[in-house]
Amino acid sequence: MELKQRLDLQPIASADSERCPGSNADSRNQGEVDSRNQAGNAAKPRRMPAWLKRVLVFAGIVIAMLAAVGAALVGGIAWGERDYAKRHALFLSTDEYYLPVDSTMLTVQLVPLKMGPAAQAALLPPGQAACEQAAALIDATGLSEAARRVTELYGLDCETSAPLTIPDEFFDAGRQQYRVDQVLNWLIGECDPAAFRTVGVLNEDIYAPGFNFLFGQSTLGGNCCVASCARMVMNADSVMQARERWHSIVTHELGHSLGLTHNEDWNSVMAFGNSLSELDQQGIGLLAADRQRLESVHPIRWQWQD
Ligand SMILES: [Zn+2]
Repeated sequence: MELKQRLDLQPIASADSERCPGSNADSRNQGEVDSRNQAGNAAKPRRMPAWLKRVLVFAGIVIAMLAAVGAALVGGIAWGERDYAKRHALFLSTDEYYLPVDSTMLTVQLVPLKMGPAAQAALLPPGQAACEQAAALIDATGLSEAARRVTELYGLDCETSAPLTIPDEFFDAGRQQYRVDQVLNWLIGECDPAAFRTVGVLNEDIYAPGFNFLFGQSTLGGNCCVASCARMVMNADSVMQARERWHSIVTHELGHSLGLTHNEDWNSVMAFGNSLSELDQQGIGLLAADRQRLESVHPIRWQWQD
């Protein structure tokens, strides 16, 4: 009997050290081991088979690795999109930040630019009258119509943000105009970095060195531009026509800001209108060449609205 017990117990030790997890032979051996254990030594507690422990540990490691990879992917995409939107507002070259972001996820902000107190005091009566007339174009209705035009043309979300007051030193009292290149540089430092592009809108007249006046100004691929409606009321048949002109200025300058150059086709809003009469003649939409240029510059899913 002692010999039988000794012989029966020997396989128990060898089974623990040589088992292959998952094999039929192992299951059979395990059943034998369990029955022998009970028969040979009833007082010995049952233990979890080593092969099962190994399987559970292995499965735990695999699950932890899958969870870590999943978290890294989700987190990386979320951060990548945020990073993309942030950087895209500052730089034109974006190939390395490519992610399939819809254009509707990116926001253009219209920022009303107000006169400072010293500039207001320096504005002479003829200028005051002209500014008051022009101000009617960029009231709440004019701004919401401009925002709608931006969305129709570019498929970008567009909203009006809180107004900013232009520093008085940018107003040239002798010319009764703001120097727009200085206003633009200031706006670049003031605009919301979360905005895809920012359009500063104002009802005062603007100029830059070398020009008597300008309708607007932008830097190619920059994150900000300026559009004035001061001259839009001149010889206009109606407020609606004056607003149409100004919407063309807004979408034209925004086009430059997005990377569009002038289009020689007068059916494009990106045609170079050098006067109000030329502005009245040119188209208000984007042509296929303009859209192709935007698609090549910005690797996003453009939501064109035809
Ligand atoms: Zn232009």
